Amino acid sequence: MKFVLASHNQGKIQEVRDIWEPLGIEIEPMPEDFPEIDENGGSFAENALIKARAVSQALGMPAVADDSGLEVDALDGFPGIHSARWAGPDASAADRNQLLLERMLTIPEGQRGAQFVCVAACVFPDGAEMAVRGQCRGAILTEERGRGGFGYDPIFCVPEYSCTFGELAPDVKNSISHRARAFTALGSALLARMEEKGD
Ligand code: IMP
Repeated sequence: MKFVLASHNQGKIQEVRDIWEPLGIEIEPMPEDFPEIDENGGSFAENALIKARAVSQALGMPAVADDSGLEVDALDGFPGIHSARWAGPDASAADRNQLLLERMLTIPEGQRGAQFVCVAACVFPDGAEMAVRGQCRGAILTEERGRGGFGYDPIFCVPEYSCTFGELAPDVKNSISHRARAFTALGSALLARMEEKGD
């Protein structure tokens, strides 16, 4: 089974390959010149499906896409689907982390729960669709810790490890992350579909 992944992000492509290779599912990146896809959905699932549909329809191949972000309990799930852009187009990841910590200044320990969420979706040329959600619970610290990872990793602490995603070794993060959970579940659903259809 072979899918085009609707992303140019080499790190993401490798991560999905690592998860799906043992399942016998192949991934290839979408063409470099694929036009930008307008992610105008109102949820992670809608955005993931918009990307997978666009790529599947354009290339006539099964396509897979994901959409992810951080949801903070005390901020009613903010920044959610706006995680990449809520602080403006010029803000860096470090800027977003500082701004988020400022918004949470008055929030006491014990009420700083949050989750990373990822929805992985796939779309087949015949229009069949699947979407599954993965999440990873943690807490937002009051300052950054660790230099690994990207985005909100240095302020997101995983209680089981007492470490931020920025402090965890990449293979450990990649085994418990929202993305790993979503793609593992989607991979199992795809294998089950194949068995059902006798492919
Ligand atoms: P995307 O949907 O994978 O492009 O993720 C959207 C945004 O969510 C990213 O730009 C990051 O700000 C945030 N995000 C998603 N996954 C992670 C993660 O594993 N660590 C840190 N930030 C993440």
